[in-house]
Amino acid sequence: MSAQMNYLDGNAAAGELSKIFAIDITTAEGKCAHCGAIRRFAEAHLYMQCPGVVARCCVCEHILLRFANVRQQVVLDVRGMAYLVMNAG
Ligand SMILES: [Zn+2]
Repeated sequence: MSAQMNYLDGNAAAGELSKIFAIDITTAEGKCAHCGAIRRFAEAHLYMQCPGVVARCCVCEHILLRFANVRQQVVLDVRGMAYLVMNAG
């Protein structure tokens, strides 16, 4: 198995990301800042073997989001997404 196939789908991020998002991010729709693809976050390729979580675009594999717990802080890097649209309920 190649390293590129070693991911889960974006639904696996629900637990970790619930620490900072009060609403379910997996149903949100985001635009990849690299290729412009607009997809549900649940379709992202999720890599959880690293320290934290890395979500990559399911079209171009560019990094959409990085999330890590560092000591008592949560670090979130979302510069790989042009935007993220969530249902406010
Ligand atoms: Zn992309």
